[in-house]
Amino acid sequence: MQWGRGALVAALFAVGAGAIGAPPSSLPPAPDTGWLVHGGTNDEQRFSPLDQINDGNVDRLGLAWYQDIGLARGLEATPIVADGVLYLSTAWSMVRAFDARTGKPLWSFDPEVPRDTLVKACCDAVNRGVALSDGKVVVATLDGRLIALDAKSGRQLWSVVTVDQAQPYTITGAPRIAKGKVLIGNAGAELGVRGYVSAYDLADGKLAWRFYTVPGDPAKAPENAAMARARQTWKGDLWWKRGGGGTPWDAIVYDERLDLVFIGTGNGAPWNQAERSPGGGDNLYLSSIVALRPDTGEYVWHYQETPGETWDYTSTQPLMIADLAVGGRTRHVIMHAPKNGFFYILDAATGELLSARNFVPVNWASGIDMKSGRPIANPKARYEQTGKPAVVLPGSRGGHNWMPWSYSPRTGLVYFPAQETAEVFFAEPGFRMRRNAYNTADDLFGLSPQTNIPTPPGKGYLLAWNPVEQREVWRVPHADVGNGGTLATAGNLVVEGEARGMLGIYRATDGKRLWAMDVQGSAMSGAVSYAVGGQQYIAISVGCGGDYVGTCRLVDAQGRRPILDRLMVFKLGGQAQLPPRPAPQPIALDPPPATATAQQVKAGGHLFGLYCAICHGGEARSSGLNPDLRASPALHGDLFEQVVRGGLLKDAGMASFADALTRDEVSSIRAYVIARANEDKRAGK
Ligand code: CA
Repeated sequence: MQWGRGALVAALFAVGAGAIGAPPSSLPPAPDTGWLVHGGTNDEQRFSPLDQINDGNVDRLGLAWYQDIGLARGLEATPIVADGVLYLSTAWSMVRAFDARTGKPLWSFDPEVPRDTLVKACCDAVNRGVALSDGKVVVATLDGRLIALDAKSGRQLWSVVTVDQAQPYTITGAPRIAKGKVLIGNAGAELGVRGYVSAYDLADGKLAWRFYTVPGDPAKAPENAAMARARQTWKGDLWWKRGGGGTPWDAIVYDERLDLVFIGTGNGAPWNQAERSPGGGDNLYLSSIVALRPDTGEYVWHYQETPGETWDYTSTQPLMIADLAVGGRTRHVIMHAPKNGFFYILDAATGELLSARNFVPVNWASGIDMKSGRPIANPKARYEQTGKPAVVLPGSRGGHNWMPWSYSPRTGLVYFPAQETAEVFFAEPGFRMRRNAYNTADDLFGLSPQTNIPTPPGKGYLLAWNPVEQREVWRVPHADVGNGGTLATAGNLVVEGEARGMLGIYRATDGKRLWAMDVQGSAMSGAVSYAVGGQQYIAISVGCGGDYVGTCRLVDAQGRRPILDRLMVFKLGGQAQLPPRPAPQPIALDPPPATATAQQVKAGGHLFGLYCAICHGGEARSSGLNPDLRASPALHGDLFEQVVRGGLLKDAGMASFADALTRDEVSSIRAYVIARANEDKRAGK
C-alpha cells in the first residue's frame, strides 16, 4: 500500500473544499489501494492509509453497493481486496469474488462442508477470511481442510485435510501466508482436542511443519524440546485423554523484520484445570503467545498470559506488531488484549514483558508482576481448587474476544470492542467426557443450585487505548457486549459495528460519532478500506451469528427475524438503499401436553444443557440462529428420536447423537423441551 504526500495534500484540500453537496466526482482521486492481507498489512494494525473519506466529509458516506449472501448464518470474515477484486469467505467456508467497484459477482466456490460438522463447532459455521498470494486464494474449511483456489476463476487447485476428521476439530480462522507457506490453526478445545498450527507449501499444499501447543502422548518421548519443556508443566495424564486444548483458532501474525511467526493459543480442554492437570501446573503452551520460525516451525520464545488456565481465557485474540516508544526508546513490540482482561506489550524479538495493565475490571489476578512477568493470582477465583463457585471477571466471553482491532500511528491509539463480563464458575459434578458435547467440566449452564449467584450485567464499549501509557483515552458505550471489530484510517476515522445492528464511524482523536447507519444485522467483522478507480470504499460483512448471536436480538416479543447476511460497501455519495427489514415471524408454540414425571424432565434438562443448549439456547429458547425446539414439529410422535438419534436432519446441520445419547436419554430431553414449551405457552412467552 502506498501513502504519498500528494494524497495527504489532496485530502486536506478535500476537507477544506468540502462544500456541502459537492458531487463525489469532484474529490481528489484516491490512489489504487488494496486490502491485501487479513490485518491490512502483515503487522495487522488494520490501519488504512486512505483519507478520501475523512472526518470532514464522512457525513456524505452512503451505500455504494451490497450483496446478499443468503446463507442465514453469521458473517465474520475480513474481505481481501486486490486488483479491483474483493474476496469474501462466508458461512460454510464458501468463497465469493466480486468486482470491488460495482459489486458484480465474479465467481463463487463451495467446498461442500458436510452440514453435520456443525455439531463440532462451538459458535456457528462462520469463517473469518481468506488469504491471497501468488494468484491463489486460500480458505480453510469448517471440517478442517485447507483449499487453494485460482484467484481469477475460483477453480480448486489443491486441497489438503489438516486435522483428524474423526475428532471434534473445526477451523473458522483465516489462513496467513508467510514466505510461501500457508499457516493455519484449528479449534475444538471445548469438545476436547489437542491444538496445533500447521504450515503448507502454497505451491502444492504439501505439509511443511506442524507445531503442537500442548504436549503429546505421555507414554512416548516428547516430539521436540519445546514439547519436553511443556510436559514438565502438566500433571497426570488426563490431558492426553481429554485433548488438552490450546487450539490456535485465530491469531497468526508474520513479522517480516524479525522473520518470526507469532501465534495466540487457546484455552485448556477441559476448561476446569483439575480435570486435565489435577494438582495444577502452568500447562504450557495454553493461553500463550508463541514465537516460531516460519521456515521450520521451530520454537523461539513464548509468553504465557494465563498460567494454569481454567476460565476459557484464550490468547487467540488478534495480535498486532508496532514500533512504540516504550521507556524512552523505540521498541519493536507485540500488542495484545486477550480475554483475560490485560493489555500486554511484549518485545517482539524476545517475548520480554514491557508493560501490562487491565483494560476492564478483572478479579482473577490483581495485576501482573513485572519482575517475573506472571499474574498476581487471586486464589478464590480457582473454583477447581476451592471446590466453591466463584464469580470471575472477565467471564468466558472475555474482556475482548476475536473481533479485530486497529491501531492508528497518527493518534497512537489502539481501538477495540472492550467488554465487561462476569461469570460463575463451578466444577461440574460428576464430570465425564461426552461425545459431541461441550466438555468444559465447568457447570456452564448452571445445572447445580450452587451456581445460582447473581452476576453484574455485561457492558460493552468501543475503547481507545494509549498503549504507551497503558491508559484509556476515550470510550463509546454500547447497549450490549459482543460488539464489532474496528478499522482505523488516515482520515482520522474509526469504523465499528455494534452488536444490535448499527454501524458507526467515530473521530479517531476523540470518539465523536460522525456517521451511523442501521445495517440490519451485527457488523462483527472488522471493516476494511480500499480504493479503485480513484474512489475510496469501506467494506464490511454483516450477519448475525457466531458466539454473540444472542446480542443481535433476532428474537423478541414479536417473534423471530430472519438473519440477513450481507456484504456492504460504502463510498462518499453512495446512493444504494437496503430493502426494509422483514417483519418478525411469531414463534408459535404448539407442544404436545406435558405428561412426563418431574424427575424425567429434570434429567432431560441436565442433558439438554450438556448437549443441546450451545446451539438451541439455554432453557430451550433459541437465539434465532438455530431452530427453536419449543416450536419444533418434531416434538410430536416419534420424530424427535428420528432426528436426534436417527440423523433425519443431518444434511440440515443436525448431527445424529446415536453414539452419544440413549433412547431413554433422548426421551428425557424431549420431555424437558415439551415441559418448557408448555410453561412458556402458558406464560404467553
Ligand atoms: Ca474457548
